[in-house]
Parts: sequence; C-alpha cells; structure tokens
Amino acid sequence: MIDVCIIGGGFSAVPLARELERTGADFRIVSEAGDTVWDRLNASGRLDFDLVSSTLTSFYSFDLATTFREDLYPTATAFHAMQQRWRREFSDRTVRDLVVRVENFEDHSVVCTRSGETFKARHVVFCTGFKRAVMGDLASVDYSVTNRTFLFDTMGDSANLIISKLVPNNNRIIVRTNGFFPIDKAYFRPRGMLPALFALDQLEFHNFRYMSNERYGSILYGGTYADGRNPILLYDHFPAAVRDGSHVTSRSRPPNGTVVVKYWPIDQYRQRFGADLEAAIAQGYLLNDIAMWLHTGRVILAPKDAPVDFDRQTITCAGVERRFDHYVRGGPEEPRLPPVLIGGVTPWRYRYRDNFMGVVPRDLNNVYLIGYTRPSSGGLANITEMQGLLVHKLITRPDFRRRVAGRLDDRIAAYDAHYYGTAEPREHYDHLVHYGFYTDDIARLIGVDHRPDQCRTLRDLVFYYAFPNDAFKYRLRGEYAVDGMGDLIRRVNEHYLGFLMMFAYLLDGSLLAPEERGVWLRTARRTFINDMRPKEAHRPFLDRYVEAYRRVTNARVDDTTDDEWEAMARRAGADRDRAVRDTRAPDRFRFDEDIGREMGRLTPLLDADVGALVGGGAGGLDEPRREFLASLLDPPEYDLPYLRP
Ligand SMILES: Cc1cc2nc3c(=O)[nH]c(=O)nc-3n(C[C@H](O)[C@H](O)[C@H](O)COP(=O)(O)OP(=O)(O)OC[C@H]3O[C@@H](n4cnc5c(N)ncnc54)[C@H](O)[C@@H]3O)c2cc1C
Repeated sequence: MIDVCIIGGGFSAVPLARELERTGADFRIVSEAGDTVWDRLNASGRLDFDLVSSTLTSFYSFDLATTFREDLYPTATAFHAMQQRWRREFSDRTVRDLVVRVENFEDHSVVCTRSGETFKARHVVFCTGFKRAVMGDLASVDYSVTNRTFLFDTMGDSANLIISKLVPNNNRIIVRTNGFFPIDKAYFRPRGMLPALFALDQLEFHNFRYMSNERYGSILYGGTYADGRNPILLYDHFPAAVRDGSHVTSRSRPPNGTVVVKYWPIDQYRQRFGADLEAAIAQGYLLNDIAMWLHTGRVILAPKDAPVDFDRQTITCAGVERRFDHYVRGGPEEPRLPPVLIGGVTPWRYRYRDNFMGVVPRDLNNVYLIGYTRPSSGGLANITEMQGLLVHKLITRPDFRRRVAGRLDDRIAAYDAHYYGTAEPREHYDHLVHYGFYTDDIARLIGVDHRPDQCRTLRDLVFYYAFPNDAFKYRLRGEYAVDGMGDLIRRVNEHYLGFLMMFAYLLDGSLLAPEERGVWLRTARRTFINDMRPKEAHRPFLDRYVEAYRRVTNARVDDTTDDEWEAMARRAGADRDRAVRDTRAPDRFRFDEDIGREMGRLTPLLDADVGALVGGGAGGLDEPRREFLASLLDPPEYDLPYLRP
C-alpha cells in the first residue's frame, strides 16, 4: 500500500507534490500523458494570449522567489513552460495512465487504471482539472473567418478571449447573457520615469472584510451597487450586462459564485503596448476590451431569454431576427472525475458544496480535492498552493485531520452560511471564490496566518490590510515557510508603492458615510470598474490595433459593411447614448486629491508604534483617524465559525 496517490499531474498538483517530496512522504502521481488544458492549446498552436491573472497570482511562491522582477500578465507560453518544468521534476514519481475508477473504504482506496493496474493507497487526492465545452471551442474555432456572425451563449474569460480574436477580422458577435461583471485588469501610474503596472488582483485589500463586509463591498465595487445607477459604468450604458444579484443573501461581499471578466482596457493597453503593437500581439498581448467592443458596436448583448431558432440559425434581438453562422455554447466547468464508489459499491456524486472548502468531501474517507475551487479574480495558483498545504497537513498530521473531519458537517454548514447565505446551490457558480478570502481562511485553519493583534507599527497594519492575500504571504514563516519570501515581499512592496495608496483609500472611504462614499468614488480620475469615460478618445487607436492584428496574423479580411448590423448596434447603444449625455466630468478629482493627501500624512508615520498613534501620543492624527486605526487592531467581523478549532 502506498501512502498517497495523486490522480492528475497538472498545474494543481504541484504544491502538494512538492510538500510531500520535501517531507519524505511515499506518494505516486497517476496521470494521463500530455492532456492538460495547456497541452491541448499548445498542440493546436493556440498559446497565443496572455493570462487574466497577474504574475503574482499565476505562479507559485517557490518559483516567484527566484523569478519575480516586475508584475505583469504572463503569456500563455511562459505559463505552459513553467508547468512542463514541474512535470519533469516529478516524472520519476509519475505513472502515465488514465484512472477509470476509485473505490473508497474506511482506511484506504483502490485506484484502478485503464491499463489494468491497481494502486492501493491510504490517501487519494484528485487534481484532474475541468472539462468544459468552451475549452474545445478555444482550440477549434477557425479564427481566420471574416464577415461572419457568432452567437455566444456564454460569457467569461475564455469566451472573451475567443471574441478578442474574432473582432479584428470584421466578425460580428452577439452575446446572449444573464449578465456578467467586467473589470479592467490593469492600470499604470507614472512612477518616476517608469510606468508601474497596477494589476487588478493585487489591489483587493482582502482582510478589510474583517472590519465590515458591507463596507468592504461598497469600497471594492466603487459605488456600483450603491444606487444601481452610475453613468460612468458599463452597466448603465448596456443594461443587459447587469447580472441579477437578487439571490445574494450572504454577508460576504463578494459572495462565492461571482463571475468576473477581466480585460485590458483600451487606454491602458495603449499606454503599455502602443509603441510596438505588432511585437505585443505576436507575444500574445491581445486587446480584449469587451466594454470597447460594446461601445463601438462590434459586440451586441442579448438577454438570456432572447429567442433562438437553432434550425434556421437565427436569434431575435435589438428588433431584428438575425442569422448567425457560428454558435459557441460555453458549458459549465465540471471536474473530470472518474467514477468513485463509496465502500466499493455506491456511486459518489460530486457537488461543490458537499466538500468543506471544496477540498474535504463529506462522504468519502481520506480523499481530497485540489483545483476545483476557482478564483473570481486572480490566478488559480493562490488557491491550489493553499489547498496543497491544507491537504498536506491533513495527510501528515492525524491530529489535525481528526480535528477538521470530526466537525465536518458543522464546518460545511457554517462555511455555506457565510459565503452563500440562504441561496440554493448554483452548481455552475458555487466553486468561484474571492481568492484572498479563501487563502486567509486556509491560512487560519492550518495556523500560518497573520493576525491583526500582532501588528505593532503602522507599516504592519498596512501590510495586514492592504497587501493582498497572495499565497506567498503565508510562506513567510511557520511550518510552510519558503526561503526568499521576505525578499519577495520587499520587491512586491516596492513595485506597488507599499500598497499605501490602497490603505489611504480604505481609510478615507471609511471616514465617509455610505451615501457620501458613492458620490466620492465617482470623483476618481479613473476607476477599475469598467469606467466608460476614457473609451471614446481611443477610437483611432482601435483602428491602428485592428490593422496591426491583421498584419501579425496575416489575415485576409472581408471589410464589407452590414447595414442590418449597424442598425442593431445603434438600437443596442440607445442607453449608452443617454448615459454619455448624462456623464459629466467632476469639477475636481476629489478622490485622487484626498488619497494623495492621505498618503502624504501617513508616510512619515509608517514606523510609528500604532498603539501610540491610537493613543494620540504621536503623529497628531485626528480622532476619527485614531478610532479607525484602533478598530483595525480588533476588527469586529474577525471570528469565523467554520475555522474554530
Ligand atoms: C484559456 C484558458 C485560460 C486560462 N487562464 C488562466 C489564468 O489566466 N490564470 C489561471 O490561474 N488559470 C487560468 N486558466 C485555468 C487553468 O485551468 C489552470 O491554469 C490550470 O491549468 C488547471 O490546472 P489543473 O491541474 O487543475 O488541470 P489540468 O492542467 O487540466 O491538469 C489535469 C491533469 O489531470 C489529468 N487527468 C484528468 N483526468 C484523469 C484521470 N481520470 N486519470 C488520470 N489523469 C487524469 C490530465 O491528463 C491532466 O494531466 C485558464 C484556462 C483556460 C482554458
């Protein structure tokens, strides 16, 4: 009998395998050869894009320690190369075979493969990735087509990637949707002479939820949900993009199940890549600004109930029954699990919520799941690294396993109450989590977390609240410490100006009443939340981009105009035209002024004792600021029942 059998040797399996190796465990990986998502994209020559997650959330801590120089979005080629390196690293431990059945018993499992081999193992860990129709579409769509109409019945990062390759060739896209949450994935701020990238997933200040979930939401969403109308946002321009949130009863903001689409906004894309567009496109940096496509009528949104006649290949929307040439269905993300039999007899049914934190199944013994929990923003690496540590501790520390498994039902119920409220399971979405909540939950569970009451200086508080909860934050010390983390954190802080901007944002936002906060957030020069204000000025650049894209891809494009489409686009843009009329630039960019002033006030105090600042003995802070700092040391919503010992 072996101790651990990992089924699936792709990206998700790496951190656990690394820990098992490090601690001398007896483990084997059984994995089908060359069949990861990235292998398939590589085989079809489709690694020609960049990731939606920043370098810091896409790579593992133990790689970042040596490779991190500056945050950007990695290319698919670089990401695939990293995975191949790790595959080679564990090749001696890997058996190339397909698992066709797993029988689970009280103290062991039997893993059966296609070739007829069986492995008896004390612990089994599934890391088999997802199967999803849109992955097939990604590899199989003919991107050289031109002057065609595509109907997408799905919207997400993969669909948006496909769209970004179709739009430049004068194809027309209809997205039938029940709403989605698009966000700018980056912006640049001048830092000296160099522009520094600010990646969306690094600016989420996750631990601020412990102060107040409600306030976290209102600050994070930039006033989007405050009154439902905000003429600088995509939602107000294209109401079909609004996703129904009426099922949300959880206190967590965002709740689990939030779908986010991350895209390069055209103004920021231009700033980063405009000087050499062809080189950027050849590397895989594609413009995928869905808001811009909508704004310029290249994409039209249709509500999910818009009638589709599949026999005639038509959809009725924007007042027209329109013929489409191609249909992209999407389909849910479902784990590629082989049949699992409880007691060797009863089929086990996977449902995300039946597994504690998506990792520990309620109904199986010594079986764990890695990689089926996905981030709304950021990369999978953060999640799978922390899941790898959790599973390693469950496997190697029986006392810890008994503690977690002993109260599994209570933990699952408490977790679900917190992240889903009373909403019924939504099987296609339940597995989506806000990554920094998830990583901190696991860190607390396994005892490698940072705590607010440990903060001694203002700098400590800024680190605790404004530095994002990337997995490497939890590798700084404790039983899973990795060499070089202190230095990595120093370099990340340098890149992000110590995250002081985010801390100042939290402070100033918190000093305002909720109704004032919404107004204040709109006086920002530029927001991350699909701010539509900068779009119009970049139409000429869009034409330049399209020409460059066609040159790089050697496209032969039929540029015939389409009067029916133009009329549909005009009708679909009616709300946009009204919103543009209502959009006024603020008299003053008060938001930016306030943050700048706050940063100036806090910078000289960073190494001051926070107790002295709160007590008024140093720093000369006014009472509201002192109260704010005091409450950060003992945040009201810190206790989470599913993490209790
Ligand atoms: C277009 C696209 C873009 C993406 N962009 C990002 C991004 O920007 N950031 C990000 O973090 N993630 C992204 N992802 C998510 C991506 O799925 C992950 O990055 C990651 O590759 C998933 O790793 P995994 O190990 O869970 O699955 P996989 O890499 O698919 O590995 C699973 C392994 O299990 C094996 N296997 C499956 N079933 C069996 C079985 N029964 N028996 C034996 N072996 C089996 C497979 O052969 C494979 O080797 C993207 C995905 C796609 C499709």
